[in-house]
Amino acid sequence: ETLVPDYIATLAAYPPGKPLEELERELGITDSIKLASNENPLGPSPLAIRALTDHIGRLHRYPDANVYYLRQRLSRHLGVLPEQLICGNGSDEILEFIMRAFLRPGEEVISAAPSFLMYGLLTQGAGGVFRPVPLKDFRLDLAAMAQAVTSRTRIIIVNNPNNPTGTVVHRAEWEDFLAALPTQVIVVVDEAYIDFVDDPEVPTGLEYLREDRPLIGLRTFSKAYGLAGLRIGYGYGPSRLIVYLDRLRSPFNVNSLAQAAAVAALDDSEFLARTRQLVKAGLAYFYEEFDRLGIRYLPSQANFLLIHLGRDSREVYEQMLRLGVIIRAMTSYQLPEFIRINAGLPEENQRFMQAFKKVLGFAA
Ligand code: PMP
Repeated sequence: ETLVPDYIATLAAYPPGKPLEELERELGITDSIKLASNENPLGPSPLAIRALTDHIGRLHRYPDANVYYLRQRLSRHLGVLPEQLICGNGSDEILEFIMRAFLRPGEEVISAAPSFLMYGLLTQGAGGVFRPVPLKDFRLDLAAMAQAVTSRTRIIIVNNPNNPTGTVVHRAEWEDFLAALPTQVIVVVDEAYIDFVDDPEVPTGLEYLREDRPLIGLRTFSKAYGLAGLRIGYGYGPSRLIVYLDRLRSPFNVNSLAQAAAVAALDDSEFLARTRQLVKAGLAYFYEEFDRLGIRYLPSQANFLLIHLGRDSREVYEQMLRLGVIIRAMTSYQLPEFIRINAGLPEENQRFMQAFKKVLGFAA
């Protein structure tokens, strides 16, 4: 296609998923469970649902273009200034702003592999060059990432905890890393799963937020806050950088339902606590079951688990699907023998284990 630049023509599509209803119709089932997308098994927070219902009658109005109340609420929640915050249509959108604002064509973005697939896609979509640095023992190798910096490097993305491994970067590693980087490099710390972390040695990017340091944190309401379908996330960083991202933002990028629900979700600390507890209990259950079966997995600080099957995960995925259990085969993450599942409700976790044992040939 001559109408598009090469870097657009060669973009890989994000691995598509079929609508759940369509899948169920094909399989002839109605009660499938989905542990494939790291969503919140409890659903949305009840306070968020009430805020949504209250807002319906005002849908003829445009959203607040400045996302005023949510940024005020986040400002109090995080202890940062409203001008250090930007909201987006999912945190993905903010990453897209970052690429468009800071990358010139041909400049480089460093991240890890395997890590979140969107990093490579968004880099390429912005005309940049993606430089993935392999994990070391399944953990981000921050020293190697810092060493990969060249004069053309503009952005380094650190996913903490990392999807799909659930591993974390500790404070000591962060400090060496930040000290090693030249000031021309913007550090992006993607904290999509930070709400699930209980390791006290894991700092959030907020600890490093300073007006004179080029570091931007990304957070989302899609995971612990249970609002993935509304598409809302935010970024925090020095206001001198956030101001450029804000200029790239279309005025109504965050819809009014998302704004209202996010404010309410931040007020629902009870829901957040319940979510964290459910996830911890779910992971503990999986650890025990997999230990008993001798199946290897990576202990996780997120709400999901990477599991080593020692055989092709596509087949296992297909067979689990026929039993109504939707999981993630990690083929597109270059991990063909791994699957990833998120912690679900106790009955979902049990149903997963039943199906898993059946498919892998363990006695029931
Ligand atoms: N970062 C990571 C590491 C993720 O796993 C995800 C969701 N899969 C996102 C960002 C995207 O979050 P959002 O829904 O806010 O775009």
